[in-house]
Amino acid sequence: MLLLDNLKTKAMVRYESRFDLGNLPTDGKINMPRTTEPSFRQSVDMMFEKAVSLMDLSSGLQEKIRVCNSTYTVRFGVKLRGDIHTFTGYRAVHSEHKEPVKGGIRFATSVNQDEVEALAALMSYKCALVETPFGGSKGGLHIDPNAWEPDEMERITRRFAYELIKRDLIHPSQNVPAPDMGTGEREMAWIADQFRRMNTTELNSEACVTGKPLNKGGIAGRVEATGRGVQYALQEFFRHSDDIKAANMKGTLDGKRVVVQGLGNVGYHAAKFLSEEDGCLITAVVERDGAVVDDKGLDIEELSHYIRTHGGVNGFFSGEYVENGAAVLEKDCDILIPAAMEGVINLSNAERISTKLIIEAANGPVTAGADEILRKAGVVIIPDMYANAGGVTVSYFEWVKNLSHIRFGRMQRRKEEANNILLIKELERLVGKPVSDDFKSKFFQGAGELELVRSGLEDTMRGAYQSMQQVWHSRNDVDSLRTAAYLVSLGRIADSYKALGL
Ligand code: GLU
Repeated sequence: MLLLDNLKTKAMVRYESRFDLGNLPTDGKINMPRTTEPSFRQSVDMMFEKAVSLMDLSSGLQEKIRVCNSTYTVRFGVKLRGDIHTFTGYRAVHSEHKEPVKGGIRFATSVNQDEVEALAALMSYKCALVETPFGGSKGGLHIDPNAWEPDEMERITRRFAYELIKRDLIHPSQNVPAPDMGTGEREMAWIADQFRRMNTTELNSEACVTGKPLNKGGIAGRVEATGRGVQYALQEFFRHSDDIKAANMKGTLDGKRVVVQGLGNVGYHAAKFLSEEDGCLITAVVERDGAVVDDKGLDIEELSHYIRTHGGVNGFFSGEYVENGAAVLEKDCDILIPAAMEGVINLSNAERISTKLIIEAANGPVTAGADEILRKAGVVIIPDMYANAGGVTVSYFEWVKNLSHIRFGRMQRRKEEANNILLIKELERLVGKPVSDDFKSKFFQGAGELELVRSGLEDTMRGAYQSMQQVWHSRNDVDSLRTAAYLVSLGRIADSYKALGL
């Protein structure tokens, strides 16, 4: 229940004085945050302050953890189409309590300093929560990637990377970027190649960036990792009866109605795995050009293929097309997965969101004000810093692979297989009956890289959920999984600083 209602913490008082909760627009349209809504960075800080007010940390240490250590802004020109075009990019380093610092590079027209700093802070908290040994960072380039041809994008990306590399803002032991919105394997391959050209004798150059293609030092399972992590997070949630009850739900994932906002890499993989492996019904997908709704459940593979070939969901052969996609975000469902942008669930629509559980596959999709409204309405939110941590977790495995210069499983796989064959042969001899071929084929094979990556990811997601869930239920001043996640994460960062005598 509303455990913090009577608790006037510093953060709550500050929060209440900032929002005008009684005056929400009811015209049925979802807008981006109203001007009264704090910025993304302020929103993250408010969540931080709410959690830190429940901790016993000196104000100096609180401030040290909260602030973004540095943000580098670069404006560079690239000659394209006969003219010089100037681009603005950022790399923010939030916390260097562990190095290298880690976090994606985003290419979008929404990129600005406030956004990269908020995202860098979330990276610090996320890495601490899932125990990847990194500080937090984030980069962004203000660009519309669709406005440029691939060879132009390559020149722009390499030039941006050059600016960051020469300042050690891309470096295997200092700062290791990864994909984010608008970037993927292709951009990471260009960045890695640019680093290698500028550091020709660096043995560990592949480890300067993660999310690379497999044949350029990438790792099996990185592309699916964030969506896979969302699946593991939900599977773990449904192992805890208290949590299912807190969300006013029953049963398992099987048959749950899921609305997904954004069928990019993260949304696509989460929706695909949940529908194909866990029996969820994806009853709506909200995209840029509107939404497609089908209460019987959408075929995600078909829909994703359609979006890639037609540029949107309009005209998809099954379900019903709804032009006002924003309204579909408010459609009644069991689980809502915002998997695109920050701030999509905000003061202007939070009261109309009709779900029991939100899992934040994107970074910052629920603003601080909306978070409060939803919590009071009994909606459980699985917070971004945990829910989308699958990406950085597998990035960690890729970085370790690059530093060790060997694929996971290469040494053990056949040994494991040989042991399993020996065991089954002996079993058959003792029992006098053959074991089925189906069992043999599954049991014999030793784990390859993909199986090991998935196993490491699942272990990480399960362990991190348990650490935050335990805090949520054991302290009656902790009102949400988000605050619990902050407490676990900030506790670890604080311990790391304290160990240095700060
Ligand atoms: N951009 C992803 C995130 O926000 C991945 C970061 C990484 O792998 O370093 O978590």
